[in-house]
Amino acid sequence: MRVQRSLLLGPARLCLRILLLLGYRRRCPPLLRGLVQRWRYGKVCLRSLLYNSFGGSDTAVDAAFEPVYWLVDNVIRWFGVVFVVLVIVLTGSIVAIAYLCVLPLILQTYSVPRLCWHFFYSHWNLILIVFHYYQAITTPPGYPPQGRNDIATVSICKKCIYPKPARTHHCSICNRCVLKMDHHCPWLNNCVGHYNHRYFFSFCFFMTLGCVYCSYGSWDLFREAYAAIETYHQTPPPIFSFRERITHKSLVYLWFLCSSVALALGALTVWHAILISRGETSIERHINKKERRRLQAKGRVFRNPYNYGCLDNWKIFLGVDTGRHWLTRVLLPSNHLPHGNGLSWEPPPWVTAHSASVMAV
Ligand SMILES: [Zn+2]
Ligand SMILES: [Zn+2]
Repeated sequence: MRVQRSLLLGPARLCLRILLLLGYRRRCPPLLRGLVQRWRYGKVCLRSLLYNSFGGSDTAVDAAFEPVYWLVDNVIRWFGVVFVVLVIVLTGSIVAIAYLCVLPLILQTYSVPRLCWHFFYSHWNLILIVFHYYQAITTPPGYPPQGRNDIATVSICKKCIYPKPARTHHCSICNRCVLKMDHHCPWLNNCVGHYNHRYFFSFCFFMTLGCVYCSYGSWDLFREAYAAIETYHQTPPPIFSFRERITHKSLVYLWFLCSSVALALGALTVWHAILISRGETSIERHINKKERRRLQAKGRVFRNPYNYGCLDNWKIFLGVDTGRHWLTRVLLPSNHLPHGNGLSWEPPPWVTAHSASVMAV
């Protein structure tokens, strides 16, 4: 970049010097003198308008990509509604296939205890998926109070121009600061933050569980349906009724959709489970990684100030205080509030008075 600048500015400066030399001589025409004065004036104007003490290649790249960021933010904002409708339609189609195509088939072949088990498990799983998805899209993630207050803050948000508490980050899609922000999820059309992080994770977990259950449970039916579809173009063609053909295609669709979602969402769920075990959010993962490298270069060790230990991190995240809560708050639908207010955080036992400053992340 510097080489390019010097290549452009070099000849311009040379021309200016020649003009200046000519301009100071009495025989120089007034037109040329005026041109030199205008050049000087223009240069001062340009410098004063474009002056930036933080200017650099990063600022130039950010400014150049600003329209792209704006476009992506707006597209995600508007497509959020489409994604939510897509989740509801796809989940609804799987439930409809299970009732209309799978149920009549297994009623004829499965034993009563096996049917009972499938009936209870599938409905328990479905209720948890619907409950957590509804809560995740309708629960606000939590926002810091605006205006005068006594809360401890760590910085000022450059977009909102308001103080930011620890773990709070600005969401450019929602266009506001979010408490303990994890990420903006287009599939929820909502930010994942302090108040709905548990709903988001539980939805991912129970949806993965449901997809694994559907693809594993329908494996035999899928194989039979797939083999039947392959015989459609044989001569003489097999005699299948319209209902049977629809059932075959629906079973193949169910198996492929559930298997792909189980793989993709399963990987995402495992990744979030790792982060929760470490007491980190997706954003903090990047911040902590940078901080770890920075301190490592100085021969020091970084410790996450929000890591209370693997089991305690899970208990805090799920809001489990007693043994009974694992059943009532995790395995059954529960709309209990998370621990804390998302504005200030209890330091873990290992944080001593001298290291309390590390809380400012
Ligand atoms: Zn903000
Ligand atoms: Zn957001």
